[in-house]
Order: sequence, then structure tokens, then C-alpha cells
Amino acid sequence: MTKIYCTQCGQPLSISAKQCTECGNQYPFKTLTLNAKESKPFDSKELKAFQKAGGKVKTSWFQKIVTLGIISLILYLVFSPSTPLTPEEQAAEAKRLLESSARHACQYQLEQRLYVPDSVEYLNDTLDRIVIDQGKNNWFVQLNYKSKNRMGVMLRGQVQCSLIHKGDKFIVTGISSK
Ligand SMILES: [Zn+2]
Repeated sequence: MTKIYCTQCGQPLSISAKQCTECGNQYPFKTLTLNAKESKPFDSKELKAFQKAGGKVKTSWFQKIVTLGIISLILYLVFSPSTPLTPEEQAAEAKRLLESSARHACQYQLEQRLYVPDSVEYLNDTLDRIVIDQGKNNWFVQLNYKSKNRMGVMLRGQVQCSLIHKGDKFIVTGISSK
């Protein structure tokens, strides 16, 4: 066990002493340095108290390397560039964006026709359909929704839109709802 003494009067002290019991020195461990081996018997709470009372604790090379490794890993995780998407993932992402804008174009036209447009809730139903006709840029969107009728009653409905995909826009050429 490493013995710790007050650096002012030489009184043996507990490592977590807040001051010297003999001379009243507030920083009894000032100028005292424990190397990695000497600090090993103490837990982190005791070492913290020791440092608060003026002592220094040297970290071992091993500890320094581990700390450096952890910091490097964190920096790598934070700053590493995200892996580029594969062509398949890019195509899937492009398709998802197109489907989303087709859906929005149809929703916009539907909401023009509703009594209470703000009341609309899209159900993301299994009966929803988005059909892409890549040949002629003709799309078909079918969505299920709920909205308030003129009496303020929430009712289920289904809308079907025919759309043309032109440039980066969707133009609704036909709409029917029931
Ligand atoms: Zn003392």
C-alpha cells in the first residue's frame, strides 16, 4: 500500500483527506505525484479527492493509448463521410421521391374538392396504389383517406388520380373520389 504524507509536515494521511489532520494544510498533497503503479490501489473517487487536495496522478502509457484510441474512434464516427449509396439504393431513393411527389400532387387536387380540407387524414392503407407507366410518363395514384363532410362527420373516402410526369412535376389529368 502506498503511504501518503502531508508535504508540509510529513503527517501520514488517508488519500481522501480534505486537509492535513496535523497542520491544517488545505492542500496536503501539493507537489506529490503518483505514477500509474502507485495510483493503482486507489479507486477513481479516492484519486479525485487526492487531486483536489493538490496531488497529481500520472496516467500510464497504456491508459494514454486507450484514451487516444477512444477519442480517435469518436472523431472517426462523427466526421467520417457516409458511405455512398449503391446504384440500386440510388434508384430506390429516386423512385421513393417520385412516388412521394405523385402522391402529393394527387392529395393537393383532392383537398381542393373537400368540404373541410384541414380535416383530411391519409390512411396509408394497403389499398393505396401507385402505378408507374414508365413508357408514356402516365402515372396512377389511389389513396384512402378520411375527411369531414359538410355535416362535419368524418367519412372514409378513396381518391384516384391520373397523372402525367413532366420534367420534375406531376400534372393531375383526371381525378375521381368516392
Ligand atoms: Zn500537515
